[in-house]
Amino acid sequence: DDDEELLNGEFADEAGEPGSAPLPVLAVVGRPNVGKSTLVNRILGRREAVVEDKPGVTRDRVNYRAEWAGRHFTVIDTGGWEVDAKGIAARVAEQAEIAISLADAVLFVVDAQVGPTATDERVVKLLRKAGKPVVLCANKVDGPRTESDATDLWSLGLGEPHPVSALHGRGTGDLLDAAMKALPTISAHGAAIPVGGPRRVALVGRPNVGKSSLLNKVLGSQRVVVDDVAGTTRDPVDELVMLKGKPWWFVDTAGIRRRVHQTSGADFYASLRTQAAIEKAEVAVVLVDASVKMTEQDTRVISQVVEAGRALVIAYNKWDLMDEDRRSFLEREIDQDLVQVQWAPRINFSAKTGWHTDRMVPALERALASWETRISTGKLNAFLGELVASHPHPLRGGKQPRILFATQAATCPPRFVLFTTGFLEAGYRRYIERMLRETFGFEGTPISISVRVRE
Ligand code: GDP
Ligand code: GDP
Repeated sequence: DDDEELLNGEFADEAGEPGSAPLPVLAVVGRPNVGKSTLVNRILGRREAVVEDKPGVTRDRVNYRAEWAGRHFTVIDTGGWEVDAKGIAARVAEQAEIAISLADAVLFVVDAQVGPTATDERVVKLLRKAGKPVVLCANKVDGPRTESDATDLWSLGLGEPHPVSALHGRGTGDLLDAAMKALPTISAHGAAIPVGGPRRVALVGRPNVGKSSLLNKVLGSQRVVVDDVAGTTRDPVDELVMLKGKPWWFVDTAGIRRRVHQTSGADFYASLRTQAAIEKAEVAVVLVDASVKMTEQDTRVISQVVEAGRALVIAYNKWDLMDEDRRSFLEREIDQDLVQVQWAPRINFSAKTGWHTDRMVPALERALASWETRISTGKLNAFLGELVASHPHPLRGGKQPRILFATQAATCPPRFVLFTTGFLEAGYRRYIERMLRETFGFEGTPISISVRVRE
């Protein structure tokens, strides 16, 4: 068997690798307490997603990589978002709407012991509107005697309810089989990015870093009437802006403008919105408040961009508040917290005063150019030949893997595949990535290197 090793530094995790083809996305939606988290754990086959024993602990992960019957897909888990009792239906609907927009198929979970509620009906309306494939999960059918609970859910008009006990695992195999049938093999999200036309930019970052201030600054008087640009279709939440003589889409601007209520689930909610914006964009500007210490929330947004395989620009905002002390602290924070993304262009500006905001477009252009770079097979193998000659893989137990051949399998972002005679050590793979960047640039784009061992 081919032994495929993926190299993505610290940001690599279950959410997928930069550069891989977009996996189809299955969103798990439903009211609180219907068993979404329990079900997601079943799907993942482990317990990492859930902190059910600790009430009030909000999970911050949005998506997980999963596999069923040999198929890989991404699960969006909305179970981590705690809804306050007040306005619960509206919040569930809002949350479901975002998850649905990100999904290729939806797993709608209903508590069969409770039966369909008004909130469930509301989600059904959204599902109908979205027109995406839906698999209906009648959860909490723990034994054969309660199977009839599931049949009540035919009334939702979503087709066959699949009786499941997420808690005990009963029926989950059949449910997943149905989900796999509903899920396309390739995600629409990668393909949804139009080729040509204005570039798509997401402004992301934790709350209060200055996203809406920046948006107002760059929008200024330069908003474009969409009809002026031939062949563009408009999503009402996106805005077209003329910058440096060129039109740019700023995606999901409505999400930026809408203030998120300060509830315990607000972080998770923001995270979901961020994910949606990143998926729609080709390049993301992650805003960071330069005047205060970087937080885990900042680095999480950055890793979301990297995991999604989008081009990345890091913008330090509120530079008008900087003094010497803060500046030297910031240098240290950058060294510590951003080692994994040293390749990202960094710009400093003030969204409030407008100082240096004009540096954003050149940075976006650099990052996008790298994102699209293709290195010819000839050049790549010449580079690797030289690299190996000057720095061969260390000898281990008398063995030394050789790199037979390499090719760039994809762009947007660049993905390389190396065919070798043996496993390459992590340190050596990192060395290759470093040298690739040193030689070919790739400023502002994640790259991935996978290794295939030929026996
Ligand atoms: P979420 O809010 O939708 O993510 O729901 P959870 O997964 O946190 O589950 C809520 C509660 O329902 C927990 O106490 C679970 O143990 C319980 N639960 C989940 N699935 C089942 C099931 O299939 N049967 C029964 N009896 N309880 C379940
Ligand atoms: P968002 O939540 O990321 O959209 O952040 P906002 O744009 O709403 O900004 C949050 C707060 O930071 C507001 O009070 C802004 O006026 C302030 N702010 C935004 N950008 C700057 C800046 O460059 N300098 C200063 N001093 N304040 C800023």
